[in-house]
Amino acid sequence: MVNDGNNDYYIDYEKMARHRKINPKKVVIMIIMILVLFLFIWIVKNLLGLIFKTQEYKAQVLAVQELEKVENERKKEEERLRQLRIPKLTQEGKDNISKIYSSETKRAFLTFDDGPSSVTPTILDTLKQENIKASFFVLGSRVEALPETVKRIYEEGHYIANHGYSHSYSAIYSSPQAVLDEFNQCNEAVKKCNRCTRI
Ligand SMILES: [Zn+2]
Repeated sequence: MVNDGNNDYYIDYEKMARHRKINPKKVVIMIIMILVLFLFIWIVKNLLGLIFKTQEYKAQVLAVQELEKVENERKKEEERLRQLRIPKLTQEGKDNISKIYSSETKRAFLTFDDGPSSVTPTILDTLKQENIKASFFVLGSRVEALPETVKRIYEEGHYIANHGYSHSYSAIYSSPQAVLDEFNQCNEAVKKCNRCTRI
């Protein structure tokens, strides 16, 4: 019995002890529930992350596909324009070629090898003045040295032909592959020239 000054009352210690007694089953169930809850949150979080990443990946794939499509269209258009610029072999042209040695008309075909060089602009001036088209068999090494001149040859309507890269016989004829390399190098040099700006 306890006296707090005003009232007397009993404290039921047994009851308190019963209340305080922890039921191990309930504790285990609670722990399991908490774990299940955490597991659930973890699964949901990962699932959402996975869904988000999948969406992001799909968007990236679509963007890349779209870029590829645009690039392909651009290349197609570029090729179409290039084909338009290339002179076509007409029936008239074929006939002219077959008659080249027997024709009554006397013709001379001008070709210039090993250029471009410092004299090429003078040749171009003369050709322009006389309204004559010629063929220029260029060397890749010279093309790299004088890209603007090659551009001028092209712009003034002359034919550009491949004469190898170095003109060094010992290098060119060292192997069949060396011959191919020479011609490919020259091709590359001319292609690069297409991007140079005319002075
Ligand atoms: Zn030559």
